[in-house]
Amino acid sequence: MNIPDRYRALPSVDELANRIGAEFPRDLVVSECRLVLADIRAALRSGATDVPDVEATVRRNLDALRRPSLRRVINASGVILHTNLGRAPLNRQGLAGWYSNLEYDLATGRRGKRDVHTSVLLERLLGSPAVVVNNGAAAVFLVLHELAAGAEVIVSRGELIEIGDGFRIPDIMQRSGARLVEVGTTNRTRIGDYRDAITDRTALLLRVHPSNFRIEGFTGRPGVEELVGLARERGIPLYEDMGSGCLADLGQSGVYEPTVQSSLSQGVDLVSFSGDKLLGGPQAGIIAGNGELVQRVRRNPMFRALRVDKLVIGALEETLRCLLLQQWNEVPVLRMLRQDVEAIRERAEQMIARIAGAEVVPGESLLGGGSTPEQSLPTYLIALPGDPVKLEAALRAATPPVIARIENDYLVLDLRTVASEEDVELTALLENLA
Ligand SMILES: *Cc1c(COP(=O)(O)O)cnc(C)c1O
Repeated sequence: MNIPDRYRALPSVDELANRIGAEFPRDLVVSECRLVLADIRAALRSGATDVPDVEATVRRNLDALRRPSLRRVINASGVILHTNLGRAPLNRQGLAGWYSNLEYDLATGRRGKRDVHTSVLLERLLGSPAVVVNNGAAAVFLVLHELAAGAEVIVSRGELIEIGDGFRIPDIMQRSGARLVEVGTTNRTRIGDYRDAITDRTALLLRVHPSNFRIEGFTGRPGVEELVGLARERGIPLYEDMGSGCLADLGQSGVYEPTVQSSLSQGVDLVSFSGDKLLGGPQAGIIAGNGELVQRVRRNPMFRALRVDKLVIGALEETLRCLLLQQWNEVPVLRMLRQDVEAIRERAEQMIARIAGAEVVPGESLLGGGSTPEQSLPTYLIALPGDPVKLEAALRAATPPVIARIENDYLVLDLRTVASEEDVELTALLENLA
């Protein structure tokens, strides 16, 4: 067939829609038919000779709309807080999205506050009042906006970080209306640098956790106590963006991260941190500290724009309760961190028992998630024989998709980040592949 004939041979929108049938809403079918026909006509006009089957294309596109886009994956990468895989995994969705006492006081039958579901637990855990917003970035913005708009904030040059996805301290500062006053140098900042920069326009001293990078060599920055001392002496609040929000001492698991409690007890006036990093909960940003400052932040009109939804509150409440009751293994991130390396080895050996050429080798799991980049934990890896690039793609295309990593020309899987309930499923997928 020549091009004009092919063109004429295309069905009309109506004809095509009738062939698809009543499986989908009619207007959805009609609009999909229009799009596909328009694409094919455009392709023919520009000289394409290979025309796809019109009906099959429409069906495939409609089927794709029916499949969930957000899907569970098996994280065999060994990166515990993998930002691309949703950071901290959650046990359950907390309380689902059905009716709840979100803002209803069951004792009085009157309107309540959504804050109560998390504030009691946070205050118990931290020993300070706290409020919750959408994420860590929102927390930083809100604190700066409330406490420093139109005034100056002093930050060390070594802490002017970018977290990723465009979150940069100087930019967020500017949007908040606060003016950044940089002190010190990239590698070294002294307490005197802060002191010299204080004027009557200074509203806040800001300390930022350099989460995802590390300066080595001739470096230094004042400790929390020194900054607290200066802040007290000059009557200026000290605010610390802690990034990861570690609430449990993880030293036993080999993770050395200052806890939120230690900053607060040393006298930092306000801290903020993420809910879905080392805390192990859902995406959220928590602001805690001096009650008066926390209340000011809570009353800021932007709070309403950055508040959290009931699903998040349910999941965060559940995580916080586990932390308070020290049920560490109920928080997946903590369970993964605490997992015994010999147990990982045993699971790995069992998984490859029937896969020729696969090996279990020592390796390292990573904390990840814009927190403590240099920290890793010993683990055992499954190394698969074969072309690692092909294997990686095949596992990624599996159901559920499996995310692995390539190391030294091998495709490797780390079971530290795989739930043991996923072992049977993953074993079957790997045996299928071999
Ligand atoms: C991760 C991080 C943020 C941003 O938190 P999100 O929850 O990702 O918005 C801000 N500051 C620091 C130091 C961080 O590590």
